[in-house]
Amino acid sequence: MIGDRIRQARLAAGLTLGALGDKVGVTHTAIQKYEKGTMTPPSSQLLKLARACGIRVEYFFRTHKVELLEPEFRKLATFGKAAQEALKIKVLDRIEKRVELLGFFPESPLLRFDSHIALPERVTGLDQLEGLADQVRDAWKLGLNPIGDLTDTLETRGLLVIVVDEENSGFSGLTAMARTLNGHMYPVVAVSSRWPGDRQRFTLAHELGHLLLSGRLDAQIDEEKACDRFAGAFLAPKAAAVQLLGQSRRGLEWQELYALKHEFGLSMAGWLQRAKQCGVITNAVHLAMWRRFSSKGWRKAEPGDPVQREHPRLFEQLVYRALGEQYVSESKAAELLGIPMMRFHKERQLESVDAAAHQ
Ligand SMILES: [Zn+2]
Repeated sequence: MIGDRIRQARLAAGLTLGALGDKVGVTHTAIQKYEKGTMTPPSSQLLKLARACGIRVEYFFRTHKVELLEPEFRKLATFGKAAQEALKIKVLDRIEKRVELLGFFPESPLLRFDSHIALPERVTGLDQLEGLADQVRDAWKLGLNPIGDLTDTLETRGLLVIVVDEENSGFSGLTAMARTLNGHMYPVVAVSSRWPGDRQRFTLAHELGHLLLSGRLDAQIDEEKACDRFAGAFLAPKAAAVQLLGQSRRGLEWQELYALKHEFGLSMAGWLQRAKQCGVITNAVHLAMWRRFSSKGWRKAEPGDPVQREHPRLFEQLVYRALGEQYVSESKAAELLGIPMMRFHKERQLESVDAAAHQ
């Protein structure tokens, strides 16, 4: 039991058996024995282990309140097994905090995940996804406007979004179901905090597509393509695209795409696709523009400023809501937010409104 937790803490800290052993002054075999449970570390050793892994010693005694079912990674080969394990543990830790917070509310402040629309039995063509994206937007009362805070929009509707710090660029996303001890299930999506905002947003919308479309696509439809199409249509609905670009165009200016990118949080490449998908430009025009786009090296890095990263606020807001209703104590609130009491005290009184402190 403690062994599992030591292993998880070590992996989450990105340490090998030997590296952790060096830090606490034992051999890698000793660490291995701790992890397997064939040897129990004395409490003095536990303190050192905790410090070396950058966690509190209580972590070793905490049981997991949440299980991660069917985790699916989208990744490159460079993102190996150990890195996946470490990421899963980081995600799990964050989910546990959320689930714990939700448990303090007499009634969950979040909706159960539900599209709130009658999903089609069968999707037989990609164009059908335009209508589906519109329906979801309608049901969620998003209108035709850009979605300002996609993370919070999804979380309010019962999808847990974890923005996780992952330096390995081979990581492209994780989806899973989180099951709590009392059997609640939450769909989970994790994206990297290091990606530009448009990539985070497209991934989130794409994963929403998987949740809605899984099992409904005709055999000849590629699920990844379908989810990409849904993502584009959800972020930039057809009616808005046609209104902003015009019904039919001979060509588009890069500056138009750049402005729309920042307005809707969808990449320039994404907008070029949308223009074709919505019939604003022909396939031939799209192809010609795409070639020029690629030759400028913009497929690797688009020009100009990046889209601002997603900045989820919901969790923090709910911690304060729980505090305001006296569902949690001040120290519990500080613990949930992962900040020391002193700092929490100041932040609660808005005494340190330095936004940089939150980065
Ligand atoms: Zn996918």
